[in-house]
Amino acid sequence: MSWVYDFENGSKEMKSLLGGKGANLAEMSSIGLPVPQGFTVTTEVNFKYFENGNKLPEEVVKEIDLAVKRLEEKSGQRFQDSENPLLVSVRSGAAISMPGMMDTVLNLGINQEVAECIGKRTDNYPFAYDNYRRFIQMYSDVVLEIPKIKFDRILEEALMMNGAATFKHLERAKMLAIIKEFLEIVQMETGEPFPTNARDQLLKAVEAVFRSWNNERAILYRKHQGISDSLGTAVNVQRMVFGNYDGTSGTGVLFSRDPSNGNDKLFGEFLFNAQGEDVVAGIRTPMPIGSLKDEHPSLYSEIRKLAKDLEKHYKDVQDIEFTIERGNIYLLQTRTGKRTAKAAIKIAMDFVKEGVIDEKTALLRISPQSVSTLLHPDFSDLAKAEATILAKGLSASPGAATGKIYFSAQDIVDAKARGEDCILVRKETSPEDLAGMIDAKGILTSRGGMTSHAAVVARSMGKTCVAGCADIVVDEENKVIKTPAFEIKEGEYISIDGTEGLVFLGKLEFSKAKTSDELETLLKWSKKYSKTKVRANADTPIDAKTAIGFDADGIGLCRTEHMFFEKDRILAVREMILAEDLEERKAALAKIKPYQMDDFYNILKTMGERPITVRLLDPPLHEFLPRTEKDAEDLANHTGKSISVIKSLSEKLHEFNPMLGHRGCRLAMTYPEIYEMQTEALIGAACKLKKEEIKTNVEIMIPLVGFDKELADMRKLVEETAARIMSKEGVEFDYKIGTMIEIPRACVVADKIAAHADFFSFGTNDLTQMTLGFSRDDVNSFMNEYLKSDVFQVNPFVSLDKEGVGPMVKLAVDKAKSTGKPIKLGVCGEHGGDAESIQFFLEAGLEYVSCSPYRIPTAKIASAQYHIRKEL
Ligand code: PEP
Ligand code: MG
Repeated sequence: MSWVYDFENGSKEMKSLLGGKGANLAEMSSIGLPVPQGFTVTTEVNFKYFENGNKLPEEVVKEIDLAVKRLEEKSGQRFQDSENPLLVSVRSGAAISMPGMMDTVLNLGINQEVAECIGKRTDNYPFAYDNYRRFIQMYSDVVLEIPKIKFDRILEEALMMNGAATFKHLERAKMLAIIKEFLEIVQMETGEPFPTNARDQLLKAVEAVFRSWNNERAILYRKHQGISDSLGTAVNVQRMVFGNYDGTSGTGVLFSRDPSNGNDKLFGEFLFNAQGEDVVAGIRTPMPIGSLKDEHPSLYSEIRKLAKDLEKHYKDVQDIEFTIERGNIYLLQTRTGKRTAKAAIKIAMDFVKEGVIDEKTALLRISPQSVSTLLHPDFSDLAKAEATILAKGLSASPGAATGKIYFSAQDIVDAKARGEDCILVRKETSPEDLAGMIDAKGILTSRGGMTSHAAVVARSMGKTCVAGCADIVVDEENKVIKTPAFEIKEGEYISIDGTEGLVFLGKLEFSKAKTSDELETLLKWSKKYSKTKVRANADTPIDAKTAIGFDADGIGLCRTEHMFFEKDRILAVREMILAEDLEERKAALAKIKPYQMDDFYNILKTMGERPITVRLLDPPLHEFLPRTEKDAEDLANHTGKSISVIKSLSEKLHEFNPMLGHRGCRLAMTYPEIYEMQTEALIGAACKLKKEEIKTNVEIMIPLVGFDKELADMRKLVEETAARIMSKEGVEFDYKIGTMIEIPRACVVADKIAAHADFFSFGTNDLTQMTLGFSRDDVNSFMNEYLKSDVFQVNPFVSLDKEGVGPMVKLAVDKAKSTGKPIKLGVCGEHGGDAESIQFFLEAGLEYVSCSPYRIPTAKIASAQYHIRKEL
């Protein structure tokens, strides 16, 4: 077992052993790029070091000694040599990059004598002393743990007193005096002289870098990024090259393409006469790499060539660190460059055009989730940087909106009519707010989760929404939002960012629209390589048109209750719910039916032959009940009943736990006439279209089924009603009947339920709610705490709880398949638009996913990625 690898003996495939930096230094060396020689102490040593009581084991020390000898031979330099002394850098480098989190020591191997020797050899004493003072500072900070500020203060004061820009501009005597002061600080702080032996310095520095794996910021970073604590860092020891040598030297970082927009031009910064830490420290302002082009064209073209070579070799954009020593360029690091979603798409497309990668690889390079940010407006970076953040809530529906705040749907409708841009602010929205939600630019609620009414409806409309923003108090009565520091009154401006869940004070500027031809091409490719159908959750003809705009393969969930909530229908719906007998109820339903039929007609016509799953009525009854005095009054006038009768009927329907109450098919088990009316309207609409020679593909879905008998009864009801309508209209066509699988019991008895179903659509919103026992609407009050305490890493209503809910899905799929009956399987819960969850669903055997129209691109890319990976 080797604990140490010379760069010549490694490769880019060895990241877990050599760390990202070590593996890439090895790779670059082996393809003949200019990399200073060196070696890597492996990540495995990191834990040996910890196990050995924070000390390098003897066997490792032996290997390091031998590696140093080889380095001395290769470089022609030697530690503490009086002619040509070797100085090295000692850098961390984990398998997954953790930029700036761990430690580095540069210029190691120097002491007073070595510094004098370098001065003499180069005839450049300022350079030699500069290396020495840098080394004392860094080594003291990293290895001896003496606060940096103690040295910085002395240096800053000396520069100021002497009017010098940098240490090297000081007189020689002053430089030496500063170094002396530095050495005295070390003596005082540690009680020992500063170490002068290069080997001792090296071993201590290697240990310190290993130690830094467990420093506070590294631990925090790993937690935040989900990087395992068990990876460990490697340590890279490399011959120093000096960007601080003179005016023909320097150091810089660059991206081989612009990471913000993907343009094919170098992007980065450069500083003459400096070492890397100077760029980071921000004391001197680096120049943009592009400015080298005019001032040093040959240097620029050489750097560009190296960047291009690296890009070609790695077949991806590179983030490169380099140093120039007296006109010679050396590469010190390369890694895959991080980029924005917009840049990622452009770069992937360009690479395909340039023949660097194929279409499948390009698709795998795109983060499906990030694509959604390209479809929505955003505030400009500058506006965001300068804005006052009022609060943070859930990023319920991406995009950005700015407008005057109003607290009721009617006020929004009136404000829109006056030509105002406005934001609807509510504690939580209800179906009655729909008109306001449609007219508002964005929606802000202080309560509710990712599947609250506001969140679901906003997403389906592609409207920006920040939900569950517990940081603000929404005082609907006095029409004011309160935060500890601000009060924003009705008619005043706020801006909301639904992508990040932020609420800003005032009106923010937007950035330009971001849709692109590249995205369209990418979606075409996704279709080419994916076997999965992506449908939309769409409730209205407008939603259906949006879905078609995103090339949806159909509608996977049309929630008919949303058709009930439109303002002109709600009175008839309330009349139906509060009906005291069958006759009254039927009369009320008869009033709703023409509306339903009209909606079904339009939505079916829009979708044509694409399949559309229409779900019969589901919501908890209480959602329909009159909420305010005025509602009760209106209903009393409408029905001719007294207000007190209306109130007492409402009272009777009150439920303590409406989500587990009288909803879904339970409604129709008690009042079959509701589903009967809906079936009549739907089949009637399809008959009408058939007569107009427009084909339809109807699937009728029964919600909240937990028992096979429920579905059997509902199937009978739907079949009988459909047959009656078809015979009355004199037309015939095929349609399917299926069920939501959203109750844990339904998963367990899925084989029995399958006997009555042509398809299953997993309702993972309710399935999550009921499997976890977390109320979808109230979970927000403790969600943050659960995330903070690592009970789970992501909100289970956003990304499927694969461990808890996943097996329920799997069980139902397996049971359905065990019947041998061909049964179509899909998902229509919010998880159907989440890239991570989609991987799980497809692996479990689902054939289609359905999500809000604006998430279709994400779902298409995610499913294409699944199929491409599967083939690899
Ligand atoms: C579900 O429960 O996942 C679902 C799609 O239905 P709803 O959100 O309307 O309850
Ligand atoms: Mg449901």
